[in-house]
Amino acid sequence: MAYITDLKPLIAIDAIAIGTIVIVAFVPGIKVFTRKLLFNGVLYLTSFTLLYYLGSNGPGLLYLMGITIFILLSLEQKYGFIALALNTLCCIYFALALHYGFASEAIQLEYRMDTWIAVSANLVFLSGTAVLLIPILFNGLQSAFEEQDLLRERLEESVEDLNAKNDELERFAYTVSHDLKQPLRMVSSFMGLLKRKYSGELDEKAQTYIHYAVDGASRMSDSIDDLLEYSRIGRKYTTIQKVDFNKLIDEVMLNLQTDIKEKKANIEVEQLPTLSVVPIAIKKLFQNLISNALKYHSGDNPPQIVIRAEEQETSWRFAVSDNGIGIDPEHYEQIFSVFKRLHTREEYPGNGMGLSICKKIVSQHDGEIWVESEKGKGSIFYFTITK
Ligand code: ADP
Repeated sequence: MAYITDLKPLIAIDAIAIGTIVIVAFVPGIKVFTRKLLFNGVLYLTSFTLLYYLGSNGPGLLYLMGITIFILLSLEQKYGFIALALNTLCCIYFALALHYGFASEAIQLEYRMDTWIAVSANLVFLSGTAVLLIPILFNGLQSAFEEQDLLRERLEESVEDLNAKNDELERFAYTVSHDLKQPLRMVSSFMGLLKRKYSGELDEKAQTYIHYAVDGASRMSDSIDDLLEYSRIGRKYTTIQKVDFNKLIDEVMLNLQTDIKEKKANIEVEQLPTLSVVPIAIKKLFQNLISNALKYHSGDNPPQIVIRAEEQETSWRFAVSDNGIGIDPEHYEQIFSVFKRLHTREEYPGNGMGLSICKKIVSQHDGEIWVESEKGKGSIFYFTITK
Protein backbone atom coordinates (compact mmCIF):
# COMPACT_ATOMS: atom_id res chain seq x y z
CA MET A 1 0.00 0.00 0.00
CA ALA A 2 2.74 2.38 1.07
CA TYR A 3 4.65 1.67 -2.14
CA ILE A 4 1.64 2.15 -4.41
CA THR A 5 0.60 5.38 -2.74
CA ASP A 6 4.19 6.58 -2.79
CA LEU A 7 4.48 6.93 0.96
CA LYS A 8 8.19 6.09 1.11
CA PRO A 9 8.72 7.00 4.81
CA LEU A 10 6.03 4.48 5.72
CA ILE A 11 7.98 1.75 3.93
CA ALA A 12 11.05 2.66 5.96
CA ILE A 13 9.07 2.57 9.21
CA ASP A 14 7.52 -0.79 8.25
CA ALA A 15 11.00 -2.16 7.59
CA ILE A 16 12.22 -0.86 10.96
CA ALA A 17 9.16 -2.37 12.67
CA ILE A 18 9.67 -5.80 11.06
CA GLY A 19 13.40 -5.70 11.81
CA THR A 20 12.76 -4.86 15.46
CA ILE A 21 10.16 -7.58 15.81
CA VAL A 22 12.60 -10.12 14.36
CA ILE A 23 15.26 -8.98 16.85
CA VAL A 24 12.78 -9.08 19.74
CA ALA A 25 11.68 -12.58 18.75
CA PHE A 26 14.90 -14.30 17.79
CA VAL A 27 18.06 -12.58 19.03
CA PRO A 28 19.25 -14.35 22.17
CA GLY A 29 20.58 -12.71 25.30
CA ILE A 30 18.11 -9.80 25.48
CA LYS A 31 16.17 -9.40 28.71
CA VAL A 32 12.42 -10.00 28.46
CA PHE A 33 11.71 -6.54 29.81
CA THR A 34 13.91 -4.95 27.11
CA ARG A 35 12.15 -7.01 24.45
CA LYS A 36 8.78 -5.70 25.66
CA LEU A 37 10.06 -2.09 25.65
CA LEU A 38 11.50 -2.47 22.16
CA PHE A 39 8.29 -4.02 20.85
CA ASN A 40 6.04 -1.35 22.33
CA GLY A 41 8.44 1.40 21.24
CA VAL A 42 8.38 0.28 17.63
CA LEU A 43 4.58 0.05 17.77
CA TYR A 44 4.47 3.66 18.97
CA LEU A 45 6.68 4.71 16.13
CA THR A 46 4.44 2.87 13.65
CA SER A 47 1.21 4.34 14.98
CA PHE A 48 2.60 7.85 15.04
CA THR A 49 3.75 7.51 11.42
CA LEU A 50 0.44 6.00 10.38
CA LEU A 51 -1.41 8.87 11.97
CA TYR A 52 0.91 11.35 10.38
CA TYR A 53 0.66 9.99 6.85
CA LEU A 54 -2.80 8.47 6.73
CA GLY A 55 -4.83 10.39 9.30
CA SER A 56 -7.90 8.53 10.41
CA ASN A 57 -7.95 6.57 7.13
CA GLY A 58 -5.12 4.58 8.67
CA PRO A 59 -5.17 2.54 11.84
CA GLY A 60 -2.98 4.98 13.82
CA LEU A 61 -5.48 5.79 16.58
CA LEU A 62 -6.45 2.13 16.83
CA TYR A 63 -2.77 1.23 17.20
CA LEU A 64 -2.37 3.68 20.08
CA MET A 65 -5.31 2.09 21.88
CA GLY A 66 -3.96 -1.40 21.09
CA ILE A 67 -0.51 -0.61 22.50
CA THR A 68 -2.06 0.68 25.70
CA ILE A 69 -3.88 -2.62 26.21
CA PHE A 70 -0.83 -4.64 25.20
CA ILE A 71 1.32 -2.73 27.71
CA LEU A 72 -1.25 -3.35 30.44
CA LEU A 73 -1.27 -7.08 29.69
CA SER A 74 2.49 -7.47 29.53
CA LEU A 75 3.84 -4.90 32.02
CA GLU A 76 2.92 -3.36 35.36
CA GLN A 77 0.15 -0.78 35.68
CA LYS A 78 2.59 2.14 36.01
CA TYR A 79 3.70 1.56 32.40
CA GLY A 80 0.02 1.84 31.47
CA PHE A 81 0.06 5.39 32.85
CA ILE A 82 3.14 6.13 30.74
CA ALA A 83 1.23 4.83 27.70
CA LEU A 84 -1.70 7.08 28.62
CA ALA A 85 0.68 10.06 28.87
CA LEU A 86 2.25 9.20 25.49
CA ASN A 87 -1.20 8.90 23.87
CA THR A 88 -2.17 12.29 25.32
CA LEU A 89 1.10 13.87 24.15
CA CYS A 90 0.57 12.43 20.68
CA CYS A 91 -2.96 13.90 20.54
CA ILE A 92 -1.67 17.26 21.79
CA TYR A 93 1.11 17.22 19.21
CA PHE A 94 -1.38 16.80 16.36
CA ALA A 95 -3.66 19.45 17.84
CA LEU A 96 -0.72 21.92 17.89
CA ALA A 97 0.22 20.83 14.39
CA LEU A 98 -3.29 21.56 13.21
CA HIS A 99 -3.34 24.90 14.97
CA TYR A 100 0.04 26.08 13.72
CA GLY A 101 -0.33 24.47 10.32
CA PHE A 102 2.61 22.03 10.45
CA ALA A 103 0.43 18.92 10.33
CA SER A 104 0.69 16.48 7.48
CA GLU A 105 -1.59 16.85 4.51
CA ALA A 106 -3.62 13.85 5.54
CA ILE A 107 -4.47 15.31 8.92
CA GLN A 108 -4.89 18.84 7.64
CA LEU A 109 -7.42 17.80 5.01
CA GLU A 110 -9.37 15.56 7.29
CA TYR A 111 -9.68 17.41 10.54
CA ARG A 112 -10.65 20.74 11.89
CA MET A 113 -9.45 21.48 15.39
CA ASP A 114 -12.81 20.69 17.02
CA THR A 115 -13.22 17.31 15.29
CA TRP A 116 -9.64 16.31 16.16
CA ILE A 117 -10.27 17.20 19.80
CA ALA A 118 -13.44 15.12 19.79
CA VAL A 119 -11.71 12.12 18.19
CA SER A 120 -8.50 12.28 20.25
CA ALA A 121 -10.39 12.92 23.50
CA ASN A 122 -12.08 9.58 22.92
CA LEU A 123 -8.73 7.86 22.59
CA VAL A 124 -7.44 9.48 25.79
CA PHE A 125 -10.66 8.62 27.62
CA LEU A 126 -10.64 4.98 26.49
CA SER A 127 -6.92 4.56 27.26
CA GLY A 128 -7.49 6.03 30.73
CA THR A 129 -10.40 3.70 31.39
CA ALA A 130 -8.33 0.73 30.23
CA VAL A 131 -5.37 1.74 32.41
CA LEU A 132 -7.61 1.97 35.45
CA LEU A 133 -9.90 -1.03 34.86
CA ILE A 134 -7.89 -3.75 33.14
CA PRO A 135 -5.49 -4.29 36.09
CA ILE A 136 -8.48 -4.58 38.45
CA LEU A 137 -10.09 -7.13 36.13
CA PHE A 138 -6.88 -9.09 35.80
CA ASN A 139 -6.05 -8.98 39.47
CA GLY A 140 -9.51 -10.39 40.16
CA LEU A 141 -9.08 -13.07 37.51
CA GLN A 142 -5.60 -13.87 38.70
CA SER A 143 -6.65 -14.32 42.30
CA ALA A 144 -9.57 -16.49 41.13
CA PHE A 145 -7.11 -18.66 39.17
CA GLU A 146 -4.70 -18.79 42.07
CA GLU A 147 -7.49 -19.81 44.39
CA GLN A 148 -8.59 -22.48 41.94
CA ASP A 149 -5.02 -23.80 41.69
CA LEU A 150 -4.76 -23.90 45.44
CA LEU A 151 -8.05 -25.76 45.73
CA ARG A 152 -7.00 -28.23 43.05
CA GLU A 153 -3.71 -28.84 44.84
CA ARG A 154 -5.52 -29.40 48.12
CA LEU A 155 -7.98 -31.74 46.45
CA GLU A 156 -5.16 -33.75 44.87
CA GLU A 157 -3.43 -33.95 48.23
CA SER A 158 -6.66 -35.11 49.88
CA VAL A 159 -7.23 -37.78 47.22
CA GLU A 160 -3.66 -39.03 47.66
CA ASP A 161 -4.13 -39.01 51.39
CA LEU A 162 -7.41 -40.86 51.10
CA ASN A 163 -5.92 -43.50 48.79
CA ALA A 164 -3.00 -44.03 51.16
CA LYS A 165 -5.40 -44.33 54.11
CA ASN A 166 -7.59 -46.77 52.17
CA ASP A 167 -4.58 -48.91 51.29
CA GLU A 168 -3.51 -48.87 54.89
CA LEU A 169 -7.02 -49.78 55.99
CA GLU A 170 -7.19 -52.63 53.53
CA ARG A 171 -3.85 -54.00 54.76
CA PHE A 172 -5.13 -53.58 58.30
CA ALA A 173 -8.41 -55.40 57.50
CA TYR A 174 -6.48 -58.24 55.87
CA THR A 175 -4.07 -58.59 58.79
CA VAL A 176 -6.84 -58.42 61.34
CA SER A 177 -8.92 -61.01 59.52
CA HIS A 178 -5.89 -63.27 59.24
CA ASP A 179 -5.05 -62.84 62.93
CA LEU A 180 -8.65 -63.39 63.99
CA LYS A 181 -8.95 -66.57 61.98
CA GLN A 182 -5.80 -68.08 63.44
CA PRO A 183 -7.29 -68.79 66.91
CA LEU A 184 -10.50 -69.99 65.24
CA ARG A 185 -8.49 -72.54 63.29
CA MET A 186 -6.89 -73.62 66.56
CA VAL A 187 -10.28 -74.05 68.22
CA SER A 188 -11.49 -76.22 65.31
CA SER A 189 -8.40 -78.34 65.09
CA PHE A 190 -8.10 -78.93 68.84
CA MET A 191 -11.78 -79.77 69.05
CA GLY A 192 -11.18 -82.27 66.23
CA LEU A 193 -8.25 -83.74 68.15
CA LEU A 194 -10.34 -83.92 71.31
CA LYS A 195 -13.09 -85.75 69.45
CA ARG A 196 -10.71 -88.22 67.84
CA LYS A 197 -8.52 -88.97 70.86
CA TYR A 198 -11.22 -89.21 73.47
CA SER A 199 -14.14 -90.37 71.36
CA GLY A 200 -14.64 -93.45 73.55
CA GLU A 201 -14.71 -91.43 76.76
CA LEU A 202 -16.97 -88.55 75.64
CA ASP A 203 -20.68 -88.83 76.19
CA GLU A 204 -23.27 -87.52 73.75
CA LYS A 205 -23.54 -84.12 75.48
CA ALA A 206 -19.80 -83.55 75.21
CA GLN A 207 -19.95 -84.49 71.51
CA THR A 208 -22.73 -81.93 70.99
CA TYR A 209 -20.70 -79.22 72.74
CA ILE A 210 -17.74 -79.98 70.52
CA HIS A 211 -20.00 -79.77 67.48
CA TYR A 212 -21.28 -76.34 68.56
CA ALA A 213 -17.76 -75.08 69.22
CA VAL A 214 -16.56 -76.19 65.77
CA ASP A 215 -19.69 -74.82 64.10
CA GLY A 216 -19.33 -71.48 65.91
CA ALA A 217 -15.70 -71.20 64.88
CA SER A 218 -16.53 -71.95 61.25
CA ARG A 219 -19.40 -69.44 61.21
CA MET A 220 -17.19 -66.76 62.68
CA SER A 221 -14.57 -67.53 60.07
CA ASP A 222 -17.22 -67.14 57.33
CA SER A 223 -18.35 -63.82 58.81
CA ILE A 224 -14.76 -62.54 58.84
CA ASP A 225 -14.36 -63.55 55.18
CA ASP A 226 -17.61 -61.77 54.27
CA LEU A 227 -16.59 -58.63 56.17
CA LEU A 228 -13.26 -58.60 54.36
CA GLU A 229 -15.04 -59.01 51.05
CA TYR A 230 -17.47 -56.22 51.96
CA SER A 231 -14.60 -53.86 52.77
CA ARG A 232 -12.97 -54.64 49.43
CA ILE A 233 -15.93 -53.96 47.13
CA GLY A 234 -15.16 -51.01 44.92
CA ARG A 235 -11.45 -51.24 45.69
CA LYS A 236 -10.17 -54.67 44.83
CA TYR A 237 -12.41 -55.58 41.91
CA THR A 238 -12.69 -52.55 39.70
CA THR A 239 -12.06 -53.77 36.14
CA ILE A 240 -15.08 -52.91 34.03
CA GLN A 241 -15.96 -55.23 31.15
CA LYS A 242 -18.83 -55.71 28.72
CA VAL A 243 -20.85 -58.57 30.15
CA ASP A 244 -23.69 -60.55 28.62
CA PHE A 245 -25.97 -60.93 31.63
CA ASN A 246 -27.62 -64.05 30.16
CA LYS A 247 -24.25 -65.86 30.25
CA LEU A 248 -23.47 -64.46 33.67
CA ILE A 249 -26.73 -65.88 35.09
CA ASP A 250 -25.89 -69.28 33.55
CA GLU A 251 -22.61 -69.27 35.46
CA VAL A 252 -24.36 -68.28 38.69
CA MET A 253 -26.89 -71.08 38.27
CA LEU A 254 -24.06 -73.54 37.72
CA ASN A 255 -22.59 -72.51 41.07
CA LEU A 256 -25.97 -72.97 42.75
CA GLN A 257 -27.04 -76.11 40.91
CA THR A 258 -26.92 -78.42 43.96
CA ASP A 259 -29.24 -76.13 45.89
CA ILE A 260 -31.51 -75.63 42.87
CA LYS A 261 -31.89 -79.39 42.33
CA GLU A 262 -32.34 -80.11 46.00
CA LYS A 263 -35.16 -77.62 46.33
CA LYS A 264 -36.65 -78.47 42.92
CA ALA A 265 -36.59 -74.79 42.12
CA ASN A 266 -37.86 -73.39 38.86
CA ILE A 267 -35.83 -70.43 37.64
CA GLU A 268 -37.11 -68.41 34.71
CA VAL A 269 -34.70 -65.96 33.09
CA GLU A 270 -36.07 -63.43 30.62
CA GLN A 271 -33.89 -61.80 27.93
CA LEU A 272 -31.17 -59.78 29.70
CA PRO A 273 -28.94 -57.01 28.30
CA THR A 274 -25.19 -56.72 27.80
CA LEU A 275 -23.71 -53.98 29.98
CA SER A 276 -20.35 -52.63 31.05
CA VAL A 277 -19.92 -53.67 34.67
CA VAL A 278 -17.46 -55.20 37.13
CA PRO A 279 -18.21 -58.86 36.29
CA ILE A 280 -17.08 -60.53 39.56
CA ALA A 281 -19.13 -58.07 41.59
CA ILE A 282 -22.32 -58.47 39.53
CA LYS A 283 -21.98 -62.23 39.65
CA LYS A 284 -21.78 -62.05 43.43
CA LEU A 285 -24.84 -59.77 43.46
CA PHE A 286 -27.01 -62.22 41.51
CA GLN A 287 -25.62 -65.16 43.44
CA ASN A 288 -26.62 -63.59 46.77
CA LEU A 289 -30.11 -62.65 45.55
CA ILE A 290 -30.83 -66.02 43.95
CA SER A 291 -29.48 -68.01 46.87
CA ASN A 292 -31.66 -65.93 49.22
CA ALA A 293 -34.67 -66.64 46.99
CA LEU A 294 -33.83 -70.34 47.26
CA LYS A 295 -33.18 -70.17 50.99
CA TYR A 296 -36.25 -68.22 52.06
CA HIS A 297 -38.80 -70.33 50.19
CA SER A 298 -42.02 -71.07 51.98
CA GLY A 299 -42.85 -74.53 53.34
CA ASP A 300 -42.95 -77.31 50.82
CA ASN A 301 -43.65 -75.00 47.90
CA PRO A 302 -40.77 -75.37 45.42
CA PRO A 303 -39.15 -71.97 44.77
CA GLN A 304 -40.36 -70.14 41.67
CA ILE A 305 -37.81 -67.51 40.74
CA VAL A 306 -38.03 -65.02 37.88
CA ILE A 307 -35.17 -62.78 36.73
CA ARG A 308 -36.00 -59.93 34.38
CA ALA A 309 -34.61 -56.60 33.21
CA GLU A 310 -36.32 -53.46 31.99
CA GLU A 311 -34.61 -50.63 30.15
CA GLN A 312 -35.09 -47.13 31.57
CA GLU A 313 -33.85 -43.76 30.41
CA THR A 314 -30.45 -43.74 32.11
CA SER A 315 -30.29 -47.21 33.62
CA TRP A 316 -31.45 -50.82 33.50
CA ARG A 317 -33.75 -52.03 36.24
CA PHE A 318 -33.35 -55.68 37.22
CA ALA A 319 -35.81 -57.70 39.25
CA VAL A 320 -35.33 -61.01 41.06
CA SER A 321 -38.69 -62.26 42.30
CA ASP A 322 -39.59 -65.30 44.35
CA ASN A 323 -42.63 -66.97 45.92
CA GLY A 324 -40.97 -67.30 49.31
CA ILE A 325 -41.81 -66.27 52.86
CA GLY A 326 -41.83 -62.54 52.08
CA ILE A 327 -40.71 -59.62 54.24
CA ASP A 328 -42.61 -57.27 56.48
CA PRO A 329 -42.54 -53.68 55.09
CA GLU A 330 -41.07 -52.44 58.38
CA HIS A 331 -37.89 -54.41 57.58
CA TYR A 332 -37.48 -53.26 53.97
CA GLU A 333 -34.61 -50.90 54.88
CA GLN A 334 -32.92 -52.79 57.70
CA ILE A 335 -32.25 -56.00 55.79
CA PHE A 336 -29.61 -54.18 53.72
CA SER A 337 -27.55 -53.35 56.84
CA VAL A 338 -24.43 -55.24 57.83
CA PHE A 339 -25.19 -58.36 59.95
CA LYS A 340 -28.94 -57.61 60.01
CA ARG A 341 -31.01 -60.81 60.00
CA LEU A 342 -34.69 -61.44 60.57
CA HIS A 343 -34.33 -65.08 61.55
CA THR A 344 -32.27 -67.28 63.82
CA ARG A 345 -29.61 -69.54 62.38
CA GLU A 346 -31.70 -72.51 63.40
CA GLU A 347 -34.53 -71.32 61.15
CA TYR A 348 -32.37 -70.29 58.21
CA PRO A 349 -28.56 -70.39 58.00
CA GLY A 350 -26.67 -67.19 57.19
CA ASN A 351 -24.73 -64.32 58.74
CA GLY A 352 -26.65 -61.23 57.53
CA MET A 353 -23.94 -59.99 55.15
CA GLY A 354 -25.47 -61.04 51.80
CA LEU A 355 -27.73 -58.05 51.14
CA SER A 356 -25.28 -55.48 52.51
CA ILE A 357 -22.71 -56.82 50.03
CA CYS A 358 -25.39 -56.51 47.29
CA LYS A 359 -26.08 -52.90 48.29
CA LYS A 360 -22.42 -51.97 48.13
CA ILE A 361 -21.99 -53.61 44.73
CA VAL A 362 -25.04 -51.79 43.36
CA SER A 363 -23.84 -48.41 44.63
CA GLN A 364 -20.43 -49.16 43.09
CA HIS A 365 -22.40 -49.22 39.80
CA ASP A 366 -24.19 -45.96 40.65
CA GLY A 367 -27.47 -47.76 41.16
CA GLU A 368 -30.02 -48.42 43.86
CA ILE A 369 -31.43 -51.56 45.43
CA TRP A 370 -34.75 -52.04 47.18
CA VAL A 371 -37.35 -54.68 47.91
CA GLU A 372 -41.10 -54.97 47.45
CA SER A 373 -42.79 -57.81 49.20
CA GLU A 374 -45.84 -59.20 50.87
CA LYS A 375 -45.46 -61.43 53.88
CA GLY A 376 -46.14 -65.03 52.89
CA LYS A 377 -46.47 -64.25 49.21
CA GLY A 378 -42.92 -63.67 48.04
CA SER A 379 -40.53 -60.81 47.41
CA ILE A 380 -39.17 -58.87 44.48
CA PHE A 381 -35.66 -57.48 44.83
CA TYR A 382 -35.09 -54.61 42.40
CA PHE A 383 -31.81 -52.97 41.56
CA THR A 384 -30.66 -50.53 38.90
CA ILE A 385 -27.39 -50.29 37.01
CA THR A 386 -26.55 -47.02 35.33
CA LYS A 387 -25.97 -47.36 31.62
P1 ADP B 1 -28.69 -63.72 55.41
O1 ADP B 1 -29.46 -64.36 54.29
O2 ADP B 1 -27.36 -64.32 55.61
O3 ADP B 1 -29.49 -63.62 56.66
P2 ADP B 1 -28.92 -61.27 53.92
O4 ADP B 1 -28.24 -59.98 54.13
O5 ADP B 1 -28.79 -61.94 52.61
O6 ADP B 1 -28.38 -62.22 55.06
O7 ADP B 1 -30.46 -61.07 54.22
C1 ADP B 1 -30.88 -60.32 55.33
C2 ADP B 1 -32.29 -60.72 55.74
O8 ADP B 1 -33.20 -60.37 54.72
C3 ADP B 1 -32.43 -62.21 55.88
O9 ADP B 1 -32.14 -62.61 57.20
C4 ADP B 1 -33.89 -62.46 55.54
O10 ADP B 1 -34.68 -62.30 56.68
C5 ADP B 1 -34.25 -61.33 54.61
N1 ADP B 1 -34.30 -61.79 53.20
C6 ADP B 1 -33.33 -61.69 52.29
N2 ADP B 1 -33.75 -62.21 51.11
C7 ADP B 1 -35.00 -62.63 51.29
C8 ADP B 1 -36.00 -63.27 50.46
N3 ADP B 1 -35.75 -63.54 49.17
N4 ADP B 1 -37.19 -63.56 50.99
C9 ADP B 1 -37.46 -63.28 52.29
N5 ADP B 1 -36.57 -62.70 53.13
C10 ADP B 1 -35.36 -62.37 52.64
